[in-house]
Amino acid sequence: MNDNGKLLNYINGEWRRSAASEYLDVVNPATSEVLGQVPLSSGAEVAEAAEAAARAFVSWRRTPAPERIQYLFKLKNLLEEHFEELSRTITMECGKTLAESRGEMRRAIENVEVACGIPMLMQGDVLEDVASGIDEFMIRQPVGVCAAICPFNFPGMIPFWFLPYALACGNTYIVKPSEKVPLTMQKVFHLLEQTGLPKGVVNLVHGAKEAVDMILDHPTIRAISFVGSTPVAKYIYSRGAAAGKRVQSQGGAKNPIVVLPDADMEMTTRITADSAFGCAGQRCLAASVAVTVGEARHTFTEAMAAAAAGRVVGYGLDEQVQMGPVISKPSQQRIEGLIQQGVEEGATLLVDGRRPAISGYENGNFVRPTILRNVNPAGEIAKTEIFGPVLSLIHLDSIDEAIQFVNSGQYGNMACLFTNSGAAARQFRYEAEAGNIGINIGVAAPMAFFPFSGWKDSFFGTLHGQSKHAVEFFTQTKVIVERWPKQWSRQF
Ligand code: NAD
Repeated sequence: MNDNGKLLNYINGEWRRSAASEYLDVVNPATSEVLGQVPLSSGAEVAEAAEAAARAFVSWRRTPAPERIQYLFKLKNLLEEHFEELSRTITMECGKTLAESRGEMRRAIENVEVACGIPMLMQGDVLEDVASGIDEFMIRQPVGVCAAICPFNFPGMIPFWFLPYALACGNTYIVKPSEKVPLTMQKVFHLLEQTGLPKGVVNLVHGAKEAVDMILDHPTIRAISFVGSTPVAKYIYSRGAAAGKRVQSQGGAKNPIVVLPDADMEMTTRITADSAFGCAGQRCLAASVAVTVGEARHTFTEAMAAAAAGRVVGYGLDEQVQMGPVISKPSQQRIEGLIQQGVEEGATLLVDGRRPAISGYENGNFVRPTILRNVNPAGEIAKTEIFGPVLSLIHLDSIDEAIQFVNSGQYGNMACLFTNSGAAARQFRYEAEAGNIGINIGVAAPMAFFPFSGWKDSFFGTLHGQSKHAVEFFTQTKVIVERWPKQWSRQF
């Protein structure tokens, strides 16, 4: 599975040493310990994977759906058996706490469970007598070779928004994990190998831009699922579409939450702190701006300051730790720079988490929870994705103004409202321009049987990951119109 710490690719059912000339260190963000080395595979290696997947597709698509899902049942059991090991790997390479990593793996497994329903989910439609004696069917057939390009922040879960559905629908697959966190997928592929899937059905290629560009351009790859930052999401969407592929491309976010004066403040602040500071703010559904309306301001501000200051920060493998480091030194520097920019735009630092001393982990990339108050709603910091444990506070006078603010941003991944009022909740879910809405929820993450929606610059495409959307994305419809004149049956 690895060669002196150098990760291998998994192509055509075998672990292969990459021909890459360049390897990157995989670094534990809490300790700076080097965990392994990831190859920046060449385009030629992606092409080998695509060709192996294309050969495997010929018989995989002919494997009956009830047989295909048997491999997923095996995978589900193996993931359960290796649950702790996978969760620890996520914490070691990505930095989040063990509880957060376990939550992530649970979400991954739920997608395998949903995809096991493919014999029902993949069914088509039939209507007899669309005209007299003529019947029409719509069936779903797999698309072919598909690929996922993944971000660093959920190394265990995000590939599972796509892979189980793709396989269950009869496609063959290539995963390109983030080069920052390749170890979790390396372990998952070891488990996929143990399921006995035919060679070439699943392939793992490590790498970065060169590998991605070959995924975008290789004519054999028919569909691409991307999750990452918005500039790269746009690039993937346009270059993939130009090559004639289906593309679903999820981008960045800047998620607002709105707190009305009638909200349950204890619950609201607890949930908001988890949303803003959980996973060190490196969640595409992290609350990044909190808008208080009317009298909500004072109690909410005080309670959030206490929640931020009291959060236990450290190495995620220590069970009592509530927040881990951010992914890298450049990321830490970028977050600290954005905090400074907020101050320069006129905000005040209610809680300053820059350059903390975390005893025993002096080499880690830590930023403690930070709160900026009186942030200018029209300023840059209210709009820019920080992707760190930083919450901006804004105060407005009415729910209408708050919704106007929510809708003014470039992103539309999530928006949440905290209130006791059903009428306010209805107005918010009706008018807010975001694909995932939380009402008295801090992280409105859809379960596997709902699509992971995203709007505006948080998503490019039509069909999202997970659920029936994934089944539609990984199948192409074929419509058959049939006439069988009755008189022909008299021949027999
Ligand atoms: P990223 O865009 O830097 O990288 C994502 C993937 O794209 C990686 O596999 C990387 O190798 C590849 N890549 C990076 N630059 C590239 C380039 N120039 N050309 C081709 N490929 C390239 O994202 P990240 O830093 O790994 O992840 C964090 C981002 O992902 C945040 O913006 C976050 O909001 C977003 N995200 C979104 C969702 C969602 O559901 N919308 C979920 C998770 C993360």
